[in-house]
Amino acid sequence: MASPILLTPGPLTTDLLTREAMLKDWGSWDFAFSELTSSVCQDITRIALGEGSHVCVPLQGSGSFAVEAALGTLVPRHGKVLVPQNGAYAQRIVKILKYLGRSAVVLDHKEEEPIDPERVATALQADPAITHVALVHCETGTGILNPLAQIASVVAAHGRGLIVDAMSSFGAIPIDLRDTPMDALIAASGKCLEGVPGMGFVLIDQAKLLAATDNSHSLVLDLRDQWLYMQRTGQWRFTPPTHVVAALRSAIDQFISEGGVAGRGARYRQNLTVLVKGLRSLGLQPFLTEAHQSPIIVTFHAPSSPAYQFADFYRTVRAKGFILYPGKLTVLETFRVGCIGAIGPQEMARAVQAITQSLQELGIEHSAFMKKND
Ligand SMILES: *Cc1c(COP(=O)(O)O)cnc(C)c1O
Repeated sequence: MASPILLTPGPLTTDLLTREAMLKDWGSWDFAFSELTSSVCQDITRIALGEGSHVCVPLQGSGSFAVEAALGTLVPRHGKVLVPQNGAYAQRIVKILKYLGRSAVVLDHKEEEPIDPERVATALQADPAITHVALVHCETGTGILNPLAQIASVVAAHGRGLIVDAMSSFGAIPIDLRDTPMDALIAASGKCLEGVPGMGFVLIDQAKLLAATDNSHSLVLDLRDQWLYMQRTGQWRFTPPTHVVAALRSAIDQFISEGGVAGRGARYRQNLTVLVKGLRSLGLQPFLTEAHQSPIIVTFHAPSSPAYQFADFYRTVRAKGFILYPGKLTVLETFRVGCIGAIGPQEMARAVQAITQSLQELGIEHSAFMKKND
């Protein structure tokens, strides 16, 4: 059987060109690899329009490594971080801060409600000790999109730093660093740029990075040291993920030919439309209202039929060539379907078909069984 299509938020389905780019070996000290790294970093900076203000610091590892590195590098040991949270990835930031021994103030929101910029403003006013705000742009736990631009202006108006986990939005949802002030924007190779997993990167305000001496608790996660070394030598400090960088080069070339953020975002929105329309017609309801739904990943209420078990549903859909994702809500039974990766509306229509047939086979086809289970 051909590889299944991954309807997940990463790793995701990649183009054959991306995978073919990994057929060559690279010497990490070789000038050709240094040029490859620097061209990838340049393009990443350009995607967020950060040339002249921000530098791109790549880091080995999955996206969370880059999140931990950014927090550890930029937040002073006696800093205090406000974390507005409406889902699993913001909760992960809180956990990271605890490991790092940085104080955190958590601003809880319901999982179905976007972060409220006014509540952020109130929290900042109330506590002058807060030095930074850490925000998840698209909360992949549910698929909700948070109002980054408004929050960035609130944080800037209060003179605090903003660190943004844009892991699942970068490349698909426009972010303009020229008018959206932030200290750092974090993303990774294996999300909307459609590379393979293995490398994170952080776009960091250059002045803030240079000033961030002696913060990092960790040698390997010290982004200031990583950047200074790379500036000096053209090389990564430790063994780089060479094949991942080569795949990312190819993936970014494809991204540019597709029309950059606008083109990619448009394809993902088409995927979203086909998915939601198809599953709604079966009686399956999205967890979020349309206005808050990102074109990245959709959380659906599980069918309320007693015949439904995620594991059986997953296996049946998988046998038809599609990989679903479990839900991440604590109270409600849900499942998630990703819209991102090298797939278009045709693949999504086939996925809808596979889900329809699977529910039939499992004896849960009747829409009457699919009322919202709340
Ligand atoms: C994918 C993702 C991460 C990183 O997760 P890893 O498992 O470390 O790759 C962080 N934040 C968000 C919002 C994500 O979607």
